[in-house]
Amino acid sequence: MGLFDTFWGDFKCQNCGEVFRFEEQTKEYDRSLNNYYIGDYVDKGNKNYFFDFVQECPKCKVNNDISVAIRRGQYVGVYPSKEARNINILELDNISKRTGGKGDKMMKQLLGDFLNITTADDHFFINVQKKREQIYFGYNNEIPEEVKEKYYIEGIYLDFASEALGIEVSDKAGE
Ligand SMILES: [Zn+2]
Repeated sequence: MGLFDTFWGDFKCQNCGEVFRFEEQTKEYDRSLNNYYIGDYVDKGNKNYFFDFVQECPKCKVNNDISVAIRRGQYVGVYPSKEARNINILELDNISKRTGGKGDKMMKQLLGDFLNITTADDHFFINVQKKREQIYFGYNNEIPEEVKEKYYIEGIYLDFASEALGIEVSDKAGE
């Protein structure tokens, strides 16, 4: 069979900063025209690895080395390959359900609702960003109320650069 499967995801160009949607076709899996989004199980069994490939940025045409993380068989994240080499994949968590999709947004949860889930004595640094603009950086429990009420979560990731929980937000749900 000459078919293929496809990984979908969003990636920020390491050269120009443009966020683009990639579509990586691979013949490594079932070859049955499956579409894999973050949250999908791509492998049977408890396999942990990074799947590496190269994609050209549609804006500046520079090739980007991209790694998608497969944790216990589940597609859990997208990283620059350089960054992925410093990640212990066994420390990545599985995600509870499929949250992404072609043209869909990941979460749409109000920032305050998410932070309220954490307990009062569980303080950690968060780095809240909206399209690369920093909205808030500091302890999760000291974030101003107006910020909690204003923004919706687009994505959550481990921000190794600032050693904080990275939270990508937008002004409105679903935008
Ligand atoms: Zn670019």
